[in-house]
Amino acid sequence: MIHLLEKEVADKIAAGEVIDKPLSVVKELVENSIDAGATMITVEIKKGGKHYIRVTDNGCGIDADETELAFMRHATSKITRAADLESLETLGFRGEALASIAAVSRTEIITKTPEARMGVKLLIEGSCPLQTETIGCPDGTTIVVRDLFYNTPARKKFMNSDAAESSAIIEFLSHIALAYVNLRMRVINNGTMLFSTQGRGDRYRNILTVYSKEIGVNLIPFHAEQDYLKLDGYISGPGITRPNRKHQIFFVNGRIVDSQVIQQGISQAYADRLFEGRFPITFLFLQTRADTLEVNIHPNKRMVRFHDKHFVMEFIRDALREALLSREAIPSVNQEAFFKMPVTKKASDFEPVSGSACIRKEEQEDIKKLLLTLRKEADQKNDTMQEEKAVYTCTTEHSTISDSSGSSQKVHASEKTPPPFDFNELSIRGAVFGTYIIATDADNFYLIDQHAAHERVFFEHFMAQYKKEDKHRQHLMIPFTLDVSYSTAELREDWMKLLGQMGFSLEVFGPKTYIIKEIPLFMDMSEAKRFLSDFMDRPLEGDRPENTPAVETLIMRSCKSAVKAHDYLKDAEIQRLIEDLGQCENPFSCPHGRPTFIKITQHQIERMFKRT
Ligand code: ADP
Ligand code: MG
Repeated sequence: MIHLLEKEVADKIAAGEVIDKPLSVVKELVENSIDAGATMITVEIKKGGKHYIRVTDNGCGIDADETELAFMRHATSKITRAADLESLETLGFRGEALASIAAVSRTEIITKTPEARMGVKLLIEGSCPLQTETIGCPDGTTIVVRDLFYNTPARKKFMNSDAAESSAIIEFLSHIALAYVNLRMRVINNGTMLFSTQGRGDRYRNILTVYSKEIGVNLIPFHAEQDYLKLDGYISGPGITRPNRKHQIFFVNGRIVDSQVIQQGISQAYADRLFEGRFPITFLFLQTRADTLEVNIHPNKRMVRFHDKHFVMEFIRDALREALLSREAIPSVNQEAFFKMPVTKKASDFEPVSGSACIRKEEQEDIKKLLLTLRKEADQKNDTMQEEKAVYTCTTEHSTISDSSGSSQKVHASEKTPPPFDFNELSIRGAVFGTYIIATDADNFYLIDQHAAHERVFFEHFMAQYKKEDKHRQHLMIPFTLDVSYSTAELREDWMKLLGQMGFSLEVFGPKTYIIKEIPLFMDMSEAKRFLSDFMDRPLEGDRPENTPAVETLIMRSCKSAVKAHDYLKDAEIQRLIEDLGQCENPFSCPHGRPTFIKITQHQIERMFKRT
């Protein structure tokens, strides 16, 4: 028999669509606060939000006589006509969140508009308004949600552990802290303050506050613009990586998104700078014209579709590549080892501060000290950057945070791409252990791994040669011969062509012997011998000269053995190596992703000697 569902049942079903875990409650409430123009939001959760969620804001509040209405399904102040959907400027618009939350919890709201003298307090349990009273309270809105899913046992069972639910909530709030840099946000978990942001438009500071200082201080800030695209970001140098993409966070026009296009741009920028299976940390904030992409307006979908995928991908790739050429991209000596900071988190533990790992008091002190130093440095820089600052700070008088496009947000001046590393500023001071070259510039001390540097130079020479039409070869006065296995000899057609393309000339000299008459100009005979014997050792696995990525891998592998680690280089050889490295496209890591450079700043040295 067909019948209409009772309102209570229908409400619960509908609520399930919007609210399926504590995170959805927090998300809806925080987005409401943002839509209400709040500049301060406090979020407090207990037991993963299952027992208690409070969101307090200083936004516009709700009129006393509309408070109950706000909890009705399809009650919204954000749109009126269908046409309004085309030009949405708010995060919410469906008028379902408050109704859904109230249907599956015990909800309390205290709200007051600036015009009203008194505020109103309303209690609702499972959609039923229980009690309304007039009370004195500050402007803004507080919503408390208790006992989530108390009346929907099936849902209740499906919640994860307290820690898992709180971790998801904190991750969401961390993202909000980065997206809304002018918002002062406080997050309290089980009675402990996890973090609070200052709302001064300083994204970098928020990254330090919300994520980890160890990672934060090593990030490279940059800024790039092209046509309708504008990108601000913080990325890790190749020395700091993660085993997954969890720390690649992208915002497009202020919204956190998932995007393959952006991911591809990142992968290409770091391509031969990282070990396989390692991923850089990236916080990217992309601004683009609204008509250049499609955003799925479903609140829980994070996909965007760029109309010109290639342009966006290449823009991101190039911006990151440029940032990776700066001095900041050189891995710096692990500071903790020297400064004896009380460290509870290693680089490998880089996680948003989660319920189970809140910042300890000593760590907070450290962060404060660190920030002070950083701020001082930044302020000094800023003095000389006042003019540029005007360009990079899009200040608006009323920087309301309700603009989700982020375009009206103040962005701190430190988000400027640092200048590229200048090899001409390096002074070579010698080498130690037959392996590490010592160099300095005005305020840094560098160790350069001679082997890694050599590998990089070799690799890029090879690739350039391989791609070029006319090869730079040197004719050997005394040719040498090379013996290969029968199975390799079988495949001679392929590899002879390939070696020819790399700048070798060789001929058959016996059933499995070849005579090498010319080698690439950039290598010496012993290097050529080592390269070739390594090259011949590997199964060719059907790699064809036309298959550039496969060839790249092949060359990469063989370069490793071409270069010897313990070779005492003469001064002129070191000079030459550094010059060659300076010509490289990616000088800061070997083709296998190991760093070529390690940096110690003068400041770090001074701290090690306790001079500061
Ligand atoms: P939506 O956000 O889609 O409009 P909600 O159910 O989340 O729907 O909220 C209903 C309405 O209640 C909103 O349109 C808004 O007018 C009001 N409201 C909700 N939260 C707040 C808040 N924190 N401050 C001011 N008004 C609010
Ligand atoms: Mg809403």
